[in-house]
Amino acid sequence: MTQSAPLQKRLEGKTALITGSARGIGLEIAAAFAAEGASVAVADLSLQDSAAAAADIALKTGAKTIALALDVSKEADCEKAVEETVKAFGKVDILVNNAGITKDNLVLRMKEADFDAVISVNLKGAFLMAKAAARLMLKARAGRIINISSVVGQAGQAGQANYSASKAGLIGLTKSLAREFAPRQVLVNAVAPGFIRTRMTEGLKDEARAKISELIPLGRMGEPGDVAKAALFLAGGDSAYITGQVLSVNGGLYM
Ligand code: NAP
Repeated sequence: MTQSAPLQKRLEGKTALITGSARGIGLEIAAAFAAEGASVAVADLSLQDSAAAAADIALKTGAKTIALALDVSKEADCEKAVEETVKAFGKVDILVNNAGITKDNLVLRMKEADFDAVISVNLKGAFLMAKAAARLMLKARAGRIINISSVVGQAGQAGQANYSASKAGLIGLTKSLAREFAPRQVLVNAVAPGFIRTRMTEGLKDEARAKISELIPLGRMGEPGDVAKAALFLAGGDSAYITGQVLSVNGGLYM
């Protein structure tokens, strides 16, 4: 009887830096990557939160993890996060731009500062992180950048002009980076989640939640794990001929 070879984990030997990964979708992505063999840098606003998440992931998966504090809207923080990851793991193979905020209001009531803050974190943050990590990836002639956009960036949403503009901008950024980096085999894609059960959506009233679920062809809100599986696909070897794309994870809400 022939013995089958042990299954190779999908991200064995890879290193990943994931922003906003102390909770929600980012945490699920970090845990999924670690379970598939990646060394993971958990990067979030609070070092305490990052450290707790990094320790928990290491305990559950046996993967190497580090905890970083950063504000993605600050260039120096982004550069330092990449430097710290390289110091710990020697390289950055995968960057996930997941950190994001909302400051919802109807346009006529939306303050300029709330528009700027959302663009600054959700869109400029991804640009700054990509710029910091791409230097190494382009040199290595390999790498993956995954930007977490949103269905709201594809379809628009009343009360979220700032957020939808940032997430639509992220799709444009993804496509431009994909074209610019393709000659060096650095692949850039976006994931556009629909309504996912996290802190970002927990404020929704039961009535609103029921209404949203009615609009979703698959009849339910998504889980963070649904998004993590899409990110894992875009980070791994099975997506080697895919760049500049937007992978919707929305239960059919927007087609
Ligand atoms: P979440 O639970 O609020 O988590 C977001 C994380 O990002 C938090 O840990 C937060 O830190 C961190 N963060 C915020 N500002 C940051 C900054 N300037 N620098 C670094 N980290 C920062 O949200 P989520 O639902 O998991 O969302 C994750 C991503 O998915 C976001 O980009 C969001 O727009 C996108 N998305 C979510 C949904 C959904 O339905 N949940 C749908 C589509 C897209 P603190 O906790 O310290 O504030």
